[in-house]
Amino acid sequence: MSRYLKREYQALEAYTPGEQPRDAAYIKLNTNESPFPPAPAVTAALTRREAELLRLYPDPTGRALKEKLAGLYGVGAENIYLSNGSDDILNFAFMAYGRSGAVFPDITYGFYAVFAGLHGVPYEEKPLNGDFTINPEDYFNQNKLIVIANPNAPTGLSLSVGAVEEILRRNRDHVVMIDEAYVDFGGESCYPLIRRYENLLVVRTFSKSRCLAGGRLGYAIGPAELIGDLEKIKYATNPYDINRLTLLLGEATVEAEDYYREKCGEIIRVRAQTAARLKELGFEVVPSDANFLFVKSGRIGGEALYRALKKRRILVRHFEKERIRDYNRVTIGTAEQMEAFCRAVEEILEEIT
Ligand SMILES: *Cc1c(COP(=O)(O)O)cnc(C)c1O
Repeated sequence: MSRYLKREYQALEAYTPGEQPRDAAYIKLNTNESPFPPAPAVTAALTRREAELLRLYPDPTGRALKEKLAGLYGVGAENIYLSNGSDDILNFAFMAYGRSGAVFPDITYGFYAVFAGLHGVPYEEKPLNGDFTINPEDYFNQNKLIVIANPNAPTGLSLSVGAVEEILRRNRDHVVMIDEAYVDFGGESCYPLIRRYENLLVVRTFSKSRCLAGGRLGYAIGPAELIGDLEKIKYATNPYDINRLTLLLGEATVEAEDYYREKCGEIIRVRAQTAARLKELGFEVVPSDANFLFVKSGRIGGEALYRALKKRRILVRHFEKERIRDYNRVTIGTAEQMEAFCRAVEEILEEIT
């Protein structure tokens, strides 16, 4: 760190992304990417002609993609905001709406606290219940920006749309941001509520269920006024934040909806199989609506299991946070990958007994 850095950034604790090993020899179950490639029509859209068009700036309004997404959800194009990954939207929301502070669960996506730190937003972490469920009443009348991942990460547990609506009703003067990164794997979206709640911002990503983590594409669905706020910040930072190829791939992705629904169905099926197998091995498995399982073995600690799996070239996630250090978050891969994972776990447990 140089002596030139602004004082408020010197103490900033940045986010630590999951490992991205350079050699492809690992079974990667650590960052909730899809094990499937994008739909064939999406990869086919990457033509030489499109590569040559990279000499031109992209459309800063992203009009064509906004219209496709608006059509898919039955909202207006003015209700859609596009971003370079959904993390940018979370960042902008803390910047824009965090003036009187923010509230989110103690166990959730680690980036929320980082964005709060970045923008000097004081935040309160509401402890999840003992079973990791969210108590909606903790979020009533908070007079702060409320941020909830639904399904939550890394637990995979969902809050009902009814509970989200209660939270919206009791925080009319502040924005409630619902991060739906994992909603396509079994959760229920609350975006239809944007018609009735001017304070609701729903955040989505193409990174997980749309097999496009490397493309960096996220979007928000919300009332036109909130979308306008985000646009204002975008045009004050980087109007060309989404590159031409990603916009193009995004459009092809929306048109291949059937492919992605099928792949999500496959993840849900393999998730159930993996959960059953882990329970047989004595694991506690948190019920998941996401493309990962949050699991704890009574026989081996979270860090020890992470290390033993890594030796076998399988990557899962382990967190240092006290309350969840006995757990691992395991992304659902293909049926073959999960078979290899379960066999490795069996071997590891046999070795320690
Ligand atoms: C993965 C993830 C995101 C963001 O992903 P992007 O790749 O930036 O779109 C946002 N929220 C949660 C809870 C996530 O797990």
